[in-house]
Amino acid sequence: MIDEQFYLMISALQHVLYCERQFALIHMEQLWEENLFTAEGQLLHTRVNNPHHKKRKTHIEEYALYVYSKQYHLIGICDLLEIELSSSHQIKNAVPIEFKRGKKKHSNVDIVQLCAQALCLEEILGITIKKGQIYYLQEHRRTDIDLNGKIREQTIKLIDRCMSILNNNTSPLPEYIPQKCDTCSLINLCFSKQLASKGPSVSCYISNQIKDHAPEKEIL
Ligand code: SF4
Repeated sequence: MIDEQFYLMISALQHVLYCERQFALIHMEQLWEENLFTAEGQLLHTRVNNPHHKKRKTHIEEYALYVYSKQYHLIGICDLLEIELSSSHQIKNAVPIEFKRGKKKHSNVDIVQLCAQALCLEEILGITIKKGQIYYLQEHRRTDIDLNGKIREQTIKLIDRCMSILNNNTSPLPEYIPQKCDTCSLINLCFSKQLASKGPSVSCYISNQIKDHAPEKEIL
């Protein structure tokens, strides 16, 4: 059972959506290995993640803002938050903006992180956040992201899924899927390719090992 004090990194959502084994290796087994894609991402965020803010009459820009949610047990950093103020200096609107390397992806890996930031900001600021933006470095423009409806549901389900994997304390078995695994930074630590090339008997061997080492049931 995970601790009540435990907070999940928002970045975990992109890992669990990409591959549940990748999520478990990083967030449960504490394994990490850089590849070109992760190194580029780290470099971009090193440049962006310098906490500071700019204030104008009706707008505030907060860079590298630390965010959290007690309700969802989430923690992370919002690259940029643009806040619009009313004439009485109340928050009228807030838009989280995430900076990403490359261009728009086919899956929602970037969008669920943005939505998780919005969930945190809603709790902190006491407002509703309907829209966010992602700036893709290769496209040189911001894309509007609707944070209502299905994406919100998907984000909350992914948070639940992360907590459930952590609670079970068992990493899912590797499955070699070339489109995912060949660009995964953990391929050398995961052994998915080696296991796939040796056939199903190796997966059976791992399953049997897990069963063999499971605590024995009490015989009544
Ligand atoms: S190599 Fe494949 S199965 Fe292993 S963690 Fe990466 S994506 Fe998942």
